[in-house]
Amino acid sequence: MKNIFITREIQAETIKTLRDKGYNITIGKKKTPLTQQEIIKEIKGKNYDAVITLLTDKIDGKVFDASPATKLFANYAVGYDNIDLVEATKRGISVTNTPGDYVDGVAQHAIALLLALMSRLVEADTFVRKGKYKGWDPMLFLGYKLKGKTVAVIGTGRIGEQVAYKLHCGFGTKIIYYDTVKNERIEKDCDAQLMTSLDEALSVADIISIHVPLLPSTHHLINKENLKKMKPSAYIINTSRGPVIDENALVYALKNGEIRGAGLDVYEFEPKLAKGLTKLKNTVLSPHIASAQFESREEMGRILAENVIDFFEDRIPRNKVNK
Ligand code: NAD
Repeated sequence: MKNIFITREIQAETIKTLRDKGYNITIGKKKTPLTQQEIIKEIKGKNYDAVITLLTDKIDGKVFDASPATKLFANYAVGYDNIDLVEATKRGISVTNTPGDYVDGVAQHAIALLLALMSRLVEADTFVRKGKYKGWDPMLFLGYKLKGKTVAVIGTGRIGEQVAYKLHCGFGTKIIYYDTVKNERIEKDCDAQLMTSLDEALSVADIISIHVPLLPSTHHLINKENLKKMKPSAYIINTSRGPVIDENALVYALKNGEIRGAGLDVYEFEPKLAKGLTKLKNTVLSPHIASAQFESREEMGRILAENVIDFFEDRIPRNKVNK
């Protein structure tokens, strides 16, 4: 019988699929991310054939040393930068990921953050819940319309492209974009215009939505200097990776009226937030949940189970990411 350890609770359906195959499943009890020491403690000497990991689990040589019997680390995530692939490959350990369709979900969440900000939904919701609503008031919680606004999409890959489509076709915004690669689809379908520089995009946009990967070249892509180039009426949305924005500089800009608001799903040092961020009313903050739709998670779980079953039935898992 195959023994599998899952570092934390995942979809019940996925666990059932694996148990139905006759695998013996042990699930970590902790509700928050495990430290590497905790992972090692859980798996050492247990002879697990496979370990199912999350993006927050740091897997490297120390973990491999602790459990030499484990020949599959199946990551329940699209990314796999939490696993030392070179070391895994060297030791003949397979690593898999779950590249499900998260694109529409993340695009939807970016737009949800934007709508919540522009309609001041979070502030208004708190006001009503606190019993402060005493009757219709023409000046109460005035927000702004999306129609006709200029949106700068920074990074027009899979997610950025969908944000452009949804905002242009659904809300009548003008789309400009900045990317190192030209996107002819949105130029044709959304009349999108490629800006020659990031500064140009930031200075003309009413809304800036960030969708670049985290790379050395995109670390602090949004910083103290270029925040000053944005319109004082600009909103910025980030669902990409936290370190793409200098978060302290963003707090300063929001506090001092350099820009109007920010919608964030990711943070520079998450789960820690920059000092002062939660005090600001002109922000909408979510805890890295842009891809947290039932449909996406179920698909990830299905892909994960397929990878594990393929591995144990001597097929190369479709989503094996190392040699
Ligand atoms: P993608 O690779 O399809 O697109 C990224 C785009 O960024 C590409 O078009 C690329 O050319 C462009 N780019 C790269 N470097 C650039 C630079 N220096 N300047 C301008 N453009 C640059 O990626 P994707 O799947 O659309 O994901 C976008 C981001 O969303 C990533 O950071 C990813 O990690 C993040 N993400 C977040 C969540 C979440 O839960 N919040 C979920 C999934 C993905």
